[in-house]
Amino acid sequence: MDVRIGTTVDGRAAGFDTTNARPLLLVGDSGRGKTTIARYLTRWWLANTSRHVHVYAQAPSEWADLRCDPARPDQLEQPVAVDCRPRACLVVVDDIDLVDDDRLALLPLGAARTILTSHGGNGLTGRPLLNDDITCLGLVRPDHADPAEAAVLDGQGRLDWPNGTVAVIPDQRGPMDFPCHRWQTPAGTWTAAAR
Ligand SMILES: [Zn+2]
Repeated sequence: MDVRIGTTVDGRAAGFDTTNARPLLLVGDSGRGKTTIARYLTRWWLANTSRHVHVYAQAPSEWADLRCDPARPDQLEQPVAVDCRPRACLVVVDDIDLVDDDRLALLPLGAARTILTSHGGNGLTGRPLLNDDITCLGLVRPDHADPAEAAVLDGQGRLDWPNGTVAVIPDQRGPMDFPCHRWQTPAGTWTAAAR
């Protein structure tokens, strides 16, 4: 199933194919919604209570309201999801830039569903994960775009994004999708009910 997250510059729907183990990499400047979309997809995944998520995030507290057990990227020390049922398991790394190359092998890239976010794309050029078969979406803001984003909106590529990155204007997201601490969880959300 394709979970829609936005619209490409040429007007097609862009999303996350939950039936495909191809990792999803989200790139884009700060504030473009990478973590927000990763949270939205995670929340969508967890709506089926037979599924679970492993989250590694620079700010684990931003994930604490979701039904997961977030850890920091530097706590990535064991192979992830080796004993999990692939269709039940989602692995999220919020800020893959912080994961050393020698730890990338601990991630089930291409085996379990994986969502990775990166601040920009420059830091990823030449890194081993880009040798894998990945879907890379670059998030842009449609208004007040800076010159690099204005060029993307004009259909040009962006040098600091991985080759083949598809530019996407994200859909507006609801309040539950924004990074929030557990104590800021909007009242009456399903996560509160599930706890
Ligand atoms: Zn798992």
